[in-house]
Amino acid sequence: MKRRAIYPGSFDPITNGHLDVVDRAIRLFDEVIVAVAVNIGKEPLFTVKERREMLRRSVGHMPNVSVDSFDNLLVDYARQKGAVAVVRGLRAVSDFEFEFQMALMNRSLEPRVETVFLMPKDSYAYLSSRMIKEIVRLGGSAKGFVPPFVEVALQRRLGKGGRR
Ligand code: ADP
Repeated sequence: MKRRAIYPGSFDPITNGHLDVVDRAIRLFDEVIVAVAVNIGKEPLFTVKERREMLRRSVGHMPNVSVDSFDNLLVDYARQKGAVAVVRGLRAVSDFEFEFQMALMNRSLEPRVETVFLMPKDSYAYLSSRMIKEIVRLGGSAKGFVPPFVEVALQRRLGKGGRR
């Protein structure tokens, strides 16, 4: 049986840190579904459709990686997809508390779905979508931190002369 994993997140927008995690995950699992979580109470910059499209452009060429979105409970979604694991990225210690809580809560809801944490390349250890948006909003460049077409989309939306 194929071992499938879900990599859930906001991906608002996708960064090279996320892509690093996908690269590592696909070496461990037969299939990885990168899934945009719709209802997580955050005000996103990009719509779900835009985020899914950006993910498709970034990982669409990777064999056995697909893109999806979900608006129900993560463990229910994982069960529907027949996934054996949820993949999450762990950057600094600051990620740990929240991720630990979520992993244990998800395990108590669905013991058959394991959470697997992957550490990114060290140069991405402090990279987050939130910080990237802040940099661009303040007039900086996200070059080297996100795929080039994401940098263009960010500058359009947030950069000097952008809409917001
Ligand atoms: P969420 O809003 O669920 O935290 P994100 O889109 O920010 O979603 O991230 C999705 C997952 O990817 C999370 O597990 C997060 O820790 C991880 N992640 C985000 N940025 C990086 C990075 N630079 N390196 C490794 N993992 C990362």
